[in-house]
Amino acid sequence: MDEKLMDNSMNHPRIPMDILLQSRTPFYYYDMEVLHQTLEEIKRHTAGMNCVVHYALKANGNFNIISEIAKYGLGADLVSGNEIKAAIEAGFPAHEMAFSGVGKTDWEIKLGLEKGIGCFNVESIPELDIINQLASEMGKTAPIAIRVNPDIDAHTHKYITTGTAENKFGIGIKALLPVVRHALELPHIHLRGLHFHIGSQITQMQPYVMLCQTINALQDHYEQQGIRFEMINVGGGLGIDYNDPDTHLIPDFKSYFSTFKQHLNVRPNQLIHFELGRTIVGQCGSLITRVVFVKENRNKKFIIVDAGMTDLIRPALYGAYHKIENLTAGQAEPMEVYDVVGPVCESTDVFAHDRELPLTKRGDLLAVRSAGAYGESMASTYNMRDLPGSIFSSPL
Ligand SMILES: *Cc1c(COP(=O)(O)O)cnc(C)c1O
Repeated sequence: MDEKLMDNSMNHPRIPMDILLQSRTPFYYYDMEVLHQTLEEIKRHTAGMNCVVHYALKANGNFNIISEIAKYGLGADLVSGNEIKAAIEAGFPAHEMAFSGVGKTDWEIKLGLEKGIGCFNVESIPELDIINQLASEMGKTAPIAIRVNPDIDAHTHKYITTGTAENKFGIGIKALLPVVRHALELPHIHLRGLHFHIGSQITQMQPYVMLCQTINALQDHYEQQGIRFEMINVGGGLGIDYNDPDTHLIPDFKSYFSTFKQHLNVRPNQLIHFELGRTIVGQCGSLITRVVFVKENRNKKFIIVDAGMTDLIRPALYGAYHKIENLTAGQAEPMEVYDVVGPVCESTDVFAHDRELPLTKRGDLLAVRSAGAYGESMASTYNMRDLPGSIFSSPL
């Protein structure tokens, strides 16, 4: 272990004190060792499976992060033309890229065709027809999967559920067969398979078991019609432990992958795609922020920090919980209850309500943990604020 680490050395984030004290806040601190361990664990649990794990770039598109992930041989799950460009720059191979999204524009589709990406995950008939037309104009054949909405409730937050009937994603199972037949008839479309993604921050295996059962039944049904798929994409969405990151720093990949090994009836030579975002990068990142003021208002104590919802929007957007640590408070400080808030002119700019923290004072440094996914990638410049910086645990 690095000898520069001081008394927080046994905890994550293991930030060397010199970096902590000298860096301009707020910034994201990425522990690359945690990222590597996470990727190793994925490799270990998928060994021997005929599968490709795609990293969903939207979780964190920081170049240093995505180029590390690319080195591990993962594919990329992309939702915009600029993500295609970033993934190529980071070294992901084009044939292991999947392009999802309900609203792909013409330039984005053309870019994907030009670069030769491995799969367009198609969400509607109009999209299918446009991809066919653009591919025809370019003298190409577009590899596609059809995104199915399996109507499975992932029991997660309503804003991050994607696989139920009432949301905009995919094509319902009842409407699917004509779309599959249509895709098979289009001359510039190569139908590779079906794509599913039921939601995010899923911590129970039950929704995945249901997903496997749905896929098994669908495949049985389609095989009776003489339709076989070379590939099935089961999406992503596995959750991480926001409450206790240090106990579960590496997500439960064993349960996740074994659920599919056990319940998914994979056809001979069929390839399985996984698309994981949050679980790959969530625990390696912390948002480091400095206390600007501590103020008291009607018996309520507020810690006002220099990071805000523009740096990490999850609490404001989803009411998400993040563990917060005071990295500079003395060991013997008494515990107090605080609201931890940012400086942005919105009442939802709150990182935590009624949180117990050691007695905190102006200048203290706090870590907002488990912020590696949907943190930096969702940052904005609202209030004309600067974007947060990023610092990595080891020289890259
Ligand atoms: C966002 C997304 C993912 C990744 O979701 P996580 O919850 O971060 O694992 C995978 N597939 C698709 C289609 C997505 O939109």
